[in-house]
Order: sequence, then structure tokens, then C-alpha cells
Amino acid sequence: MHPDTFIPFHMPSIGDEEVREVESTLRSGWLTTGPRTAQFEKEFGSYVRTPHAIAVSSCTAGLHAALSALGVGKGDEVITTPLTFCSTVHAILQTGAKPVLVDVRADGNIDPEKIEKAVTGRTRAILPVHLAGLPCEMKVIWRLARRHGLLVVEDAAHAAGTYYRGRSIGAAGDSGDVSDAVCFSFYATKNMTTGEGGMITTPSKSLAARIRILALHGMSRDAWNRYSKHGSWYYEVVASGFKYNLSDIQSAIGIHQLRKLDSFIQARARYAEMYNQAFAELEELETPPAGTHCRHSWHLYMLRLNLSSLKIDRKGFIEQLRRRGVGASVHFIPIPLHPYFSRMPWAARRCDQALNLYQRVVSLPLYPALTEAQVRHVIGSVKHIVATYRVRRPHAALTRAS
Ligand SMILES: *Cc1c(COP(=O)(O)O)cnc(C)c1O
Repeated sequence: MHPDTFIPFHMPSIGDEEVREVESTLRSGWLTTGPRTAQFEKEFGSYVRTPHAIAVSSCTAGLHAALSALGVGKGDEVITTPLTFCSTVHAILQTGAKPVLVDVRADGNIDPEKIEKAVTGRTRAILPVHLAGLPCEMKVIWRLARRHGLLVVEDAAHAAGTYYRGRSIGAAGDSGDVSDAVCFSFYATKNMTTGEGGMITTPSKSLAARIRILALHGMSRDAWNRYSKHGSWYYEVVASGFKYNLSDIQSAIGIHQLRKLDSFIQARARYAEMYNQAFAELEELETPPAGTHCRHSWHLYMLRLNLSSLKIDRKGFIEQLRRRGVGASVHFIPIPLHPYFSRMPWAARRCDQALNLYQRVVSLPLYPALTEAQVRHVIGSVKHIVATYRVRRPHAALTRAS
């Protein structure tokens, strides 16, 4: 395959609308957090159906700000998954709390059955990750959280556009079936992007206010209003804050990405279905679960290799894809395998499922900017590699006859 036609693992979908909005933002004279960020927050909030949406500089910043605003800190334990991006765990550690890694199910999401056994007197929060855009079993997690008086903060980095039991991830909901905070990512490769960026949603007005203070230098807006008689220069620092705000230049992109989100998800789902149909018949492969009671956002297409039927490992498989002009990736290197985390006692907790899944997952290109021809090329490449490296077992009838 000609190098020019290499199919990258990801390409963003940025249209003229985003370009024009960024240009007019740049010309408006207002670059940092301002009217476009306010509009983006409002529109994101109405998309997921929550009264409070706070734009932040990243999902990582969002997780740290949300956990901090909820008072999670030293002496606390936060239950999360080993099969996630490192920043889920950094955010916990940077509050001073201790991560507790609970193994995943076959679908890659945290196993709700195993969470309860991990709860101790120090557990403060559960931090589930909707891996690949497949929602976690939130009903069970919320019930557990209620029973043990725990907070729930969702890492929804993959889940913009994911629906769970008829509601968008991040929806305010009712009857206690709701998380304290949900953090989305608008990193360049995510379902929608602002280049870098994130959003926190919460049903709680007071938590939203606290997050806003922490996300902007610990400066109080209320004080700003109260003391505005001092003049427009006046503010009060009321907490140890961070610099986690999103600029209007980034929000300008987000406003238009959000409007396209549902069509992006439709395109992802269509290509995922093409992959599913093409690979279903191959015993050397296992297609990723689509879930029930949900709309999977198909952020990632995590194909599973049945390694015992293949004479090639995952690393070799990705190398073969690359040779055929297809970029692939792996999600994720389990947390305990990273040198920095591996030194920590909490990283020793068993997570066999996550370690096992890690050995055999390959994320294929899946994004709206792909063409059907490119998806067919990826399918053809995967099938070719499987045909080349399949373990040829003697036919059962022949074995008996010999
Ligand atoms: C991308 C990602 C993050 C971090 O998002 P940023 O916006 O880049 O900070 C967190 N968790 C998961 C699971 C991710 O994939």
C-alpha cells in the first residue's frame, strides 16, 4: 500500500463551521473563558440534560477538580478500574487519596460484583470508566454507592454521546440514580473535540459552584458579586485553586462539534457494525460487546484476538496491520504495569481479567472521517492476517481416522 494512503488510527472531523467560529473568536478580542464558553456549557448541559456543566481544560483536570471539590483527599480510598488511561489514577493520587483497582469483566468495564468486596471503612468514592464508550453497569454501582454512602464520579472520557437506560451519560436523572460528577474529554481523538478540553456535569448546584471556584485559582465569584462595589478589579481567593478553565477559542470548536456529535456517533456505529459483521464468522477473533439497555458511542473498536487459534501475538498483529497500511492502537496498558504505579502497594491488587484482556486487544481505526472503502481495507487486512497466521488444527474426523 502506498504510504500516502496509510489509514491513520485517528483523524479528527473539523469542518468549516469550527474554522469560522474560531476565526470570529480570534477577531472578537475575547480569547479566554467568556461568552463562547458560557454558550458551550449551556448547550452541553442541555444535550446531556443536566442543570450544571462546567467547561475545563481537560478530562484529567475535570476529574481532579471534581474529586477535590467533593473533599476526597488524604486517608480516602477511591475504587477504579485497572484498564484505563493513566490520568484516571493520577487524578486520584493528586488529591492525596489511594486508588483501589477492581478488576474488569469480559466487556472491559469495572466488575460491579467485585466492587463491594473492595469497600473498606476508608472508601470514599467509586470512579467507573465507560471503556470504549460502552456504559458501565451504573444501576448496580449507584445502588452500591447508596448502600455504603459513597460518592460516584464517572470518567466519561469515551462516553460523550453514550446513552445508558434511555438517558445520556451525565444526565441529572432522578431517584438517586445519578452520579455526583461526570467528566468528559474533548481531547483530539475523542468522540468530539476542542483540541484539548473537558466538561464536568453535576446535578448539584453547590458542587458546581465549588468546582468553578477550584477550577479558576480558588477565586470566588460570589465574593466578586458581593464586593463588586469595590470595583471590577476586586476578587477574593477562598480556596487552593487550580488553573483548569477552557478558553473561548476551544469552546468555539466545541459548540460545533457538539452539534455534530449524534451524526458522529451514527457514523462510528455504522463502521463498528461493518467490522462486527465481517469478523463474526472468524473463530480467531472476538468482536467487542455492544451492551444492552444502552447506546454505545463506539469511541473505540477493541477487537479481541483469540490467541490460542493464532500463530501471532498482539504486537505482531499490529505490526502486520501497519505493513498493510493500517494504524492500530491498544487500550489500555493496565495501570499496574506502568513503572511508576507498579512500585505502589495498592497496585499489587489482582486484576487477572484486565491483564488477560490487555494481551489480546487491538483497537482498529474507527472515526467518522473514515470512508467505507477504508473500513473495507481494514477488514480485508485483518482477514488476511488471520488467514495467514491461523493455527491449522487437524480436522476432527481425520484425527479419529488416523
Ligand atoms: C483520554 C482519557 C482521559 C483524559 O482525557 P484528557 O481530556 O486528555 O485529560 C481520561 N480517561 C480516559 C479513560 C481517557 O481515555
